Amino acid sequence: MDLLNTLVEKGLRRELPTREEALAVLATSDDELLDVVAAAGKVRRQWFGRRVKLNYLVNLKSGLCPEDCSYCSQRLGSKAEILKYTWLKPDEASKAAAAGVAGGAKRVCLVASGRGPTDRDVDRVSQTIQTIKEQNEGIEVCACLGLLSEGQAERLRAAGADAYNHNLNTSEATYGDITTTHTYADRVDTVHQAQSAGMSACSGLIAGMGESDEDLVDVVFSLRELDPDSVPVNFLIPFEGTPLAKEWNLTPQRCLRILAMVRFVCPDVEVRLAGGREVHLRSLQPLALHVVNSIFLGDYLTSEGQEGKADLAMIADAGFEVEGAGTTTLPTHRADALEAAGAAGGCGGHSGGGCGPCGDGAPADTAATCAPTGGCAPAPAAVPAADQARTDLVAVRRRGAGTDLPPNA
Ligand code: SF4
Repeated sequence: MDLLNTLVEKGLRRELPTREEALAVLATSDDELLDVVAAAGKVRRQWFGRRVKLNYLVNLKSGLCPEDCSYCSQRLGSKAEILKYTWLKPDEASKAAAAGVAGGAKRVCLVASGRGPTDRDVDRVSQTIQTIKEQNEGIEVCACLGLLSEGQAERLRAAGADAYNHNLNTSEATYGDITTTHTYADRVDTVHQAQSAGMSACSGLIAGMGESDEDLVDVVFSLRELDPDSVPVNFLIPFEGTPLAKEWNLTPQRCLRILAMVRFVCPDVEVRLAGGREVHLRSLQPLALHVVNSIFLGDYLTSEGQEGKADLAMIADAGFEVEGAGTTTLPTHRADALEAAGAAGGCGGHSGGGCGPCGDGAPADTAATCAPTGGCAPAPAAVPAADQARTDLVAVRRRGAGTDLPPNA
């Protein structure tokens, strides 16, 4: 396929594809899906080999946000029955971080709900970063606290934050449709502040919010221009109790095409498969490892992910390896540029915008039917359509940070 050959050649040269080429990836058919994944895999292996970086989310402060991001279970007016709690203490956050590190994570992403931190919040998080770094040698820390005010990025950097996450989420043209309490420009400004302070910038998107292919290409091209070191790709978890609860419009195949498009547009960047991985890719998750080079281990901010052990087994079974703490994530040219700017490593992120998605539901009971000849046989399991709402796969987080139960790692 000429398109894919062209995209591989451009990806290996770090050359930007055209918008038409990016759109064409999204328009490929299911028959072409494995070719698309294989082509993106060539670019992925050129810059990241077969390594998978594991990141671990710690939700420092959950729910009760005054902002109105439609996709978010922590938003103003959300009826989602998520955990709600105020700031974790430094030792509590460090304990949660240690569980992620023990599970194989090399980066911890500290996330707090809210429009942005007060100066007192920055003090609090700075203390938490220092405690985590003292108690977990070699750990990378990414902060995700919302919109930053002047001087806050520098203070977080001075406290030891390696990276700062703030997602663009969707295209500039549609931003006002999903959030009214802050603007796309506010978000861009915060990413610039993080970069100026010498932190590794992490900024990504959420797919599945009803956007068009053009919107997806727009936001990914904007990210390329912003030049973060890592791009988390979230797939919307349509939480009951949020305005986007009915937006079930992703299939596993579409998710793979979106990830491939991101890889072609941002070839040498840490592309992270983020929230919605289990819900939308389902049994095709291992294929995504050929495209992305980074995932979150364990649970998300307000929803539960698959068991950490299952993540590790999936990586091994698919023939990939967990990236070790002593390995630099980014390709040399990026790592050198970052070091020159005074930072270290790539970036964390989370599972759904400024902060993350979640969900509820339990597996459906297995019914049984009685055959006319006597005896009972299990009913054939109903196979849901690829784009059917899968509320059965969404579970609100009930363990880890903010609870008395051990975290999933
Ligand atoms: S994404 Fe962040 S800022 Fe937006 S509603 Fe959720 S917690 Fe608040």
